[in-house]
Amino acid sequence: MGLLDGRIAIITGAASPRGLGKATARLFAEHGARVVILDLDADQASAAAADLGGGHLGLACNVTDKAQCEAAAAAVTEKWGRIDVLVNNAGITQPLKIMDIGPANYDAVLDVNLRGTLYMTQACIPQMRNQKAGSVVNMSSVSAQRGGGIFGGPHYSAAKAGVLGLTKAMARELAPANIRVNAICPGFISTDITAGKLTPEMMKGILDGIPMGRAGEASDVAGCALFLASDLSAYCTGTEVDVNGGSLI
Ligand code: NAD
Repeated sequence: MGLLDGRIAIITGAASPRGLGKATARLFAEHGARVVILDLDADQASAAAADLGGGHLGLACNVTDKAQCEAAAAAVTEKWGRIDVLVNNAGITQPLKIMDIGPANYDAVLDVNLRGTLYMTQACIPQMRNQKAGSVVNMSSVSAQRGGGIFGGPHYSAAKAGVLGLTKAMARELAPANIRVNAICPGFISTDITAGKLTPEMMKGILDGIPMGRAGEASDVAGCALFLASDLSAYCTGTEVDVNGGSLI
């Protein structure tokens, strides 16, 4: 028996083959969920969904566009009549210093990580309210907690700290509707978001700061997402769970 048998789960930014979203999609599917993969490119989203086996769906959705978020949620509701889980995973980062952040950099990073989390959640809330149940999992970052230091710039730290504030405020407002909202703060995880962008010196500096002495795997984050999405965490809301190999000890 799977922890998500019969549940409908939407995961944003889940087409990247080595990404946290895809690993989460894979684990959710193994636990009986029908998974909806949203990403920028329709073909990549469909291919990622097909990769999970039959019965899943891949759709194009740019989370910075409110109308696209609403259209995606409407398509899922029309097809399956429910939205049980939303994982707001889509994110981008830019390794910039304070003085190098221009208006376009700031907008891009805030838009995908923070605005997208708001828009996609807003799109799913009406259906979750109808069901009187739902679980939202937001992808923040250790960069929010320690002011960067791993890869993202200050604007990324600000966006991910904003995700934590949004998580707690949404959790408070939605708790009476039995909609839970929690966040994951991954540490350094090997995915395409950093692939090819780190020098050996940067890599050594990162690993030296991780007591467990290794980068995390996407599956490490997926396991935490499964816990927060499922009834195992039925009494958890407004929490942030660290998946960072001890980086904050
Ligand atoms: P990734 O780059 O592998 O995947 C991100 C995905 O988001 C891509 O598929 C991309 O196409 C998609 N995306 C980008 N902009 C989008 C938009 N506007 N609308 C829809 N989709 C969009 O990254 P990842 O490492 O798997 O990261 C996943 C999440 O975890 C991100 O929010 C990231 O900030 C966060 N995170 C990652 C790490 C890490 O070390 N990898 C650490 C902390 C937090």
